[in-house]
Amino acid sequence: MSHREEGVEAPFWERPLAELSQEQWEALCDGCGRCCLKKLINDRDESVHYTRVVCRYLDTEQCRCTQYKRRQTLVPDCLVLDMELLPELGWIPDTCAYRLRYENKPLPQWHPLISGSRAAINAQQISVSGKVISEEYVHEDGLEEHIIRWVNAAC
Ligand code: SF4
Ligand code: SF4
Repeated sequence: MSHREEGVEAPFWERPLAELSQEQWEALCDGCGRCCLKKLINDRDESVHYTRVVCRYLDTEQCRCTQYKRRQTLVPDCLVLDMELLPELGWIPDTCAYRLRYENKPLPQWHPLISGSRAAINAQQISVSGKVISEEYVHEDGLEEHIIRWVNAAC
């Protein structure tokens, strides 16, 4: 276990979410791309099922939104996370940095803020990079065939 020296300020990602500046809030995102996957909701029990089909605006190699500034205009149900919304998002991946910090859990070692690069998040298969298919190539009625199950836990 490591101990921080007295008087040394905690890095922003260890502070409560409510204290973060907008810039720090944005930087907390690990860029995994999981929240950009298409999801199906079971009518019977309202359970959420992720598919490997991803929004057409995600750069599937870099895992970056290619339309970040216009995303809500282009995709009305695109998720714009904030403090008010977080408690309602039971479906958000358990690896998501916002969920982890909301639940007062530490960021995992593979998070780019901790590891210093994107190598670990790719190596740990947390990122969707190279593993997804754009919605451009899948008919809406065929989404069910692409349901996936996460194989990685949060840490
Ligand atoms: S518009 Fe961008 S951020 Fe929104 S779901 Fe699509 S790729 Fe993700
Ligand atoms: S799941 Fe969370 S950490 Fe991953 S890209 Fe979406 S908002 Fe960022």
